[in-house]
Amino acid sequence: MTTVVQKYGGSSLADAERIRHVAGRIAREHAGGARLVVVVSAMGDTTDELLALAAQVTDEPDPRELDLLLATGEHTSGTLVAMALHALQLPAISLTGAQAGIRTDSSHGRARIANVEPERIQRELETGRVVIVAGFQGATDETHLTGEVTTLGRGGSDTTAVALAARLGADRCEIYTDVEGIFTADPRQVAQARLLPVIGYEEMLELAQQGAQVMQTRAVELGWVNGVEILVRSTFSEHPGTTIREDLDVEQRNKVRGLATDRRVAKVTLVAVPDRPGVARTVFDPLAEAGINVDMIVQNIGHSGATDLSFTTPAADLARVRRILEPVVRELGARELTTDADVAKVSIVGAGIHNAPGYAARMFGTLADNGINIEMISTSEIRITCIIRKSDLELAAQALHAAFELERPEPVETGSGSSE
Ligand code: ASP
Ligand code: MG
Repeated sequence: MTTVVQKYGGSSLADAERIRHVAGRIAREHAGGARLVVVVSAMGDTTDELLALAAQVTDEPDPRELDLLLATGEHTSGTLVAMALHALQLPAISLTGAQAGIRTDSSHGRARIANVEPERIQRELETGRVVIVAGFQGATDETHLTGEVTTLGRGGSDTTAVALAARLGADRCEIYTDVEGIFTADPRQVAQARLLPVIGYEEMLELAQQGAQVMQTRAVELGWVNGVEILVRSTFSEHPGTTIREDLDVEQRNKVRGLATDRRVAKVTLVAVPDRPGVARTVFDPLAEAGINVDMIVQNIGHSGATDLSFTTPAADLARVRRILEPVVRELGARELTTDADVAKVSIVGAGIHNAPGYAARMFGTLADNGINIEMISTSEIRITCIIRKSDLELAAQALHAAFELERPEPVETGSGSSE
């Protein structure tokens, strides 16, 4: 018997009408005879609203209480989807993450799934029910601490879905969202952006890390490690969507698969820090301790014993970065700390980049031809990223999309839309 895991995102469940629409989709799948597990996110902006509510009560909400609060968002949508299915005469039951057997470590707010105990879900499936699982949450199962509710980090319902698909050996894992799949660029920025029928795990990870917001990166990682093929498609259309999977046709494809942009970054520079051992550690240790992500670190060549050190960080963390680094700058005797939130990131991604020289030159040349200044550069095996002015971002995305001919369908993608 076929087992299918479907996940519906918050915008797909934003109100009663959408919940009934989702129930209709589930009913259709159920009519096909599959055993169905449905993971739900909180309705619309519920999670943000709950966070805002907590912030109105205190500046420092207790992490345990905050998780218990946030978990209710997914409880609400789960129960309502179950009721909507009952109204269609479908047998269905909703479970919290804990009831569904999602076991995690005890890091509140960013818990990791340690194990999935599938027995309850399996029992329910065997009685013929559709099982609705509250996404984004689990419960601790550590010797000293059992049954405490945890959440998996923002966007964590994707991770719940992929973990369940892996554990249940599901035949399909489908992520339903408000876009039709993964595009070569953000269609709001680049009108020529094209939907990709297939994308490799590694490429998807790079795109997601560099700002494409369709899926949580941890979910893609989990899918990769467990060989779960993930279909991303729209709740609101019949478009077949994008499959994220091991992409064996990479050699035949266009070497650049897509581009990602990110406006939510800031640049931090420590001006004239002493050029001696231990400085980088003094700067980055306290940031790591505070859990602040740092990337694109650039240290310039030293002049007369001093050097400039720049890096990028999420714009949302900028105030914390300043607070942490101001005393460090004094301690090191650096000249000053400057920050710049008017920057943005643009990246090209493709598994073919590393074995084909010339991509970097084409990227830099395209930006230069458009009068766009590059402030920082970083690369991975399959990605090249530039930091530019925020005001240049849209032009950069459009120019790069054209320069790499991303609007052109690739030979192996035409016809069936899949190369299997
Ligand atoms: N509701 C949670 C969030 O907004 C989890 C999710 O949507 O996947 O982050
Ligand atoms: Mg959400």
